[in-house]
Amino acid sequence: MPSSAELHERRSAVVARGVSSMIPSYVSSASGGTMTDVDGREWVDFAAGIAVTNVGNAAPRVVEAVRAQVERFTHTCFMIAPYEQYVAVCEELAALTPGDFEKRSALFNSGAEAVENAVKIARHATGRPAIVVFDHAYHGRTNLTLALTAKVMPYKQGFGPFAGEIYRVSMSYPLRDGRSGPQAAAYAIGQIEKMVGGANVAAVLIEPVQGEGGFVVPAEGFLPAIAAWTKAAGAVFIADEIQTGFCRTGSWFASEHEGLEPDLITTAKGIAGGLPLAAVTGRAEIMDSVHPGGLGGTYGGNPIACAAALASIETMRELDLAAAARRIEAVARPRLEALAAKHPSIAEVRGRGAMLAVEVVIPGEDDAAGPVPDPVTTAAVAKTAHELGLLLLTCGTYGNVIRLLPPLIISDEELDRGLTLLEQAFSTTA
Ligand SMILES: *Cc1c(COP(=O)(O)O)cnc(C)c1O
Repeated sequence: MPSSAELHERRSAVVARGVSSMIPSYVSSASGGTMTDVDGREWVDFAAGIAVTNVGNAAPRVVEAVRAQVERFTHTCFMIAPYEQYVAVCEELAALTPGDFEKRSALFNSGAEAVENAVKIARHATGRPAIVVFDHAYHGRTNLTLALTAKVMPYKQGFGPFAGEIYRVSMSYPLRDGRSGPQAAAYAIGQIEKMVGGANVAAVLIEPVQGEGGFVVPAEGFLPAIAAWTKAAGAVFIADEIQTGFCRTGSWFASEHEGLEPDLITTAKGIAGGLPLAAVTGRAEIMDSVHPGGLGGTYGGNPIACAAALASIETMRELDLAAAARRIEAVARPRLEALAAKHPSIAEVRGRGAMLAVEVVIPGEDDAAGPVPDPVTTAAVAKTAHELGLLLLTCGTYGNVIRLLPPLIISDEELDRGLTLLEQAFSTTA
């Protein structure tokens, strides 16, 4: 097997520079909470491929289902010749997503594609143009979803002009806005009413816990107030659960924590144990406002990806991975709180379930937006962690958040080892 150094050299000659990698090591295998590189090094996995391998890498049931499906047929295109696996995934989505009403789903390949289609559907159903999004939001990297995404570097820089009729309002960010949930919602709603106009709004699109934007958990009451306003305005409330979905936050969907029943939900990442699949699921009358042929794509709901999704969902149900996420929080949160008590550079520990983060700041310094972010220390901690053998992601508008996204099947021993490595990385860096 070629070494990482050799592979890096080959890569430099052929892979576009715009596609970058966090670590310089090339993977040879991964399972459970551990990844092994081609040079024989091992890593504790606190990334799960960005909240994708919730059921673990190469999860046994997923492997078996994929193998069986590959041998039967690999692709027909659901728009040409349909098959049961697609229908079965939509049945699961109807049953698992919050809301006891009739639902329909459409399947796609990536999160961005699901968000694009949710926007199409909401505009079609309402006959209105405007889409409301929030500060720090991340919804993908296609042109429309870049317009919905907040952060310029690295996502948007130089890639415009972007799609129109997108309006950004203030997010509830307890560490930085000093507002209660209802206050923050009133502020955002005021912005929408004055700058967009309720009658023009097709949809309000929000991540119930923000992902790339910094694992921001809105203050309690913010999401229900925004959802209630959206309903009263006759607009579509879309929850982007692409990162939060499929047991990540300790329930099937993060919307459940405050009893939300979104009109539409976008899912991807954790749905299929690593195979590319995404969905828009929602109220039948909204979804079915679209004429036959108005939605689709060559690969959307590919049978292998659907087989993997069904096996992943079965695994989540059987192993109760929502409970596993809560258990990960019960172990990790106290360790992170202790770390914060030791390092004044940690301004806050936050998150839900197995979606946890620490926000890193310059101790004792405040500016207009609260504690001054420290992206330099954040990057240094992550780099040290990588050198020590822990795969760790950063995030946040200010690049100053360290996030934990372990696979939900991570063993107690791996979780403990990973947290110890994180503590070491902070001790030697921050
Ligand atoms: C990752 C992500 C997306 C985009 O998904 P892709 O599969 O990368 O296109 C959209 N929304 C959220 C909340 C995400 O975390």
